[in-house]
Amino acid sequence: MEHQQEETSIPHVLIFPLPLQSTSNSMLQLAELLCLADLKVTFINTNHNQQRLLRHTNVQSRFEQYPSFQFLTISDGLSEDHPRSAEQFGDIISSLQTMAEPFLKEMLSDVVEKPVTCVIADGLFYYAVDIGNEKGVPVITFDTISPSCLWVYLCLPKLIEAGVLPFKGNDLDALVTHIPAMEGLLRRRDLPHFCLLDDYKTDLNSQAVFKEIERIPKAHGLILNTFEDLEGPFLSCIRSYFPKTYAIGPLHLNLKTKLAVKATPPLSSSNSLWEEDHTSIKWLDVQSKGSVIYVSFGSLAVVSRNEILEFWHGLLNSKVKFLWVMRPNILKGGGSHDEFMKELVEGCKGIGYIVSWAPQKMVLAHQSIGGFLTHSGWNSTLESIIEGKPMICWPQYVDQRVTSRLVNEFWKVGLDMKDICDRYVVEKMVKDLMGTKKDEYKKTIEKLSELAIISVQEGGLSYNNLNCLIDDIKGLTRSTENGSVKM
Ligand code: UDP
Repeated sequence: MEHQQEETSIPHVLIFPLPLQSTSNSMLQLAELLCLADLKVTFINTNHNQQRLLRHTNVQSRFEQYPSFQFLTISDGLSEDHPRSAEQFGDIISSLQTMAEPFLKEMLSDVVEKPVTCVIADGLFYYAVDIGNEKGVPVITFDTISPSCLWVYLCLPKLIEAGVLPFKGNDLDALVTHIPAMEGLLRRRDLPHFCLLDDYKTDLNSQAVFKEIERIPKAHGLILNTFEDLEGPFLSCIRSYFPKTYAIGPLHLNLKTKLAVKATPPLSSSNSLWEEDHTSIKWLDVQSKGSVIYVSFGSLAVVSRNEILEFWHGLLNSKVKFLWVMRPNILKGGGSHDEFMKELVEGCKGIGYIVSWAPQKMVLAHQSIGGFLTHSGWNSTLESIIEGKPMICWPQYVDQRVTSRLVNEFWKVGLDMKDICDRYVVEKMVKDLMGTKKDEYKKTIEKLSELAIISVQEGGLSYNNLNCLIDDIKGLTRSTENGSVKM
């Protein structure tokens, strides 16, 4: 009886990630951290992603160690052959919403077997906050994008009110005002791409962002994947707007550190939706220290044939060895790229190695890697910082544009190639990153890496913030009579 009482008093957290590689990754890391703190966790995944995850990772056996963890799957409402790439992002979001709303309403009702104490949902799922508030279940928003970009988002209403947005004229290098802590830092071209549209209000991305920022003050808390020493000034600004903000990153380092403290060695922690090609590590094993640049544009970005060719020629001309990830669905506009790829692979033999998906964290940790040519996705950026690898940034969407500016101008750990795709620039930047500027950037990024490590160790700020988040969740008890949660 006592045991049963104990069981029911353990909070049950429902985690609802955006069904993308990067977000599922971060949310699974958070799920495991919560399991290690003895919370009950239900992780909602789409059927499509769950199948891919089970096919390519050991996620099943990894989470079997936590009897209080379960996966639940729902349909994303899309057909199996839907490409689900960045070009159809709007489809994914709207289709999933129609499936997720009734599902969440049922999950948060009193009648379910394991009542939910709290929901942790991606910031883009603004409707989760509405449903939670209606049902009396607190929702903690997890914004997996870069917190500095979230701060830009939060300032957008101010920019509109002040008449700054929409921008007048075409000067993309003009500095943007009205974003505290970023004055003199961001140019127009560094803002999320929809800010540069005249009709930004009708853009689906911007509509989603405005709904998201409206809901943040209505959520119970805000989780961010960063650490204080990296984004302190922006975190202070976010906290002035929403005090209950938990900066608990870098999440994968936080998890790795916690697992290392346990007696049993941690299992490999891949959450890949594609099969990782480990021949990339074998190839790196025979290269000399710091000699290779790793090239990857993440899990979503699509690139045209011409752009790929500019990178390819630039890399070859630099004479720097490279390891390049080209996903099967990387080509803009879709279509098969087998022939094209075969030619690229043949043409770079001896200097470059191309794979369709790599074990990125292992790659970045490899001693042969000296730099990273990246699209500035937030996870890639954090992973590069942790491994002390300077970056060349070629951003496209949303937070990537802000992050690349910070990499270059704020943290000073790399170069920003935003809005340029030219083989001569690629060649020059690769030579600079791996040659003339190498020592300067390496010294600075290694300092940040040390600070990241300190932040997740006992007594560090991310370590403490995670404990505060767990205490906060443990303090939420659900009253069974009316389904509402006491806070
Ligand atoms: N990634 C990987 N192998 C690859 C390319 C990417 O494991 O070949 C992982 C990478 O480590 C990161 C995620 O995919 O955790 C990409 O997330 P990010 O936020 O950088 O970009 P997004 O894919 O969301 O644009």
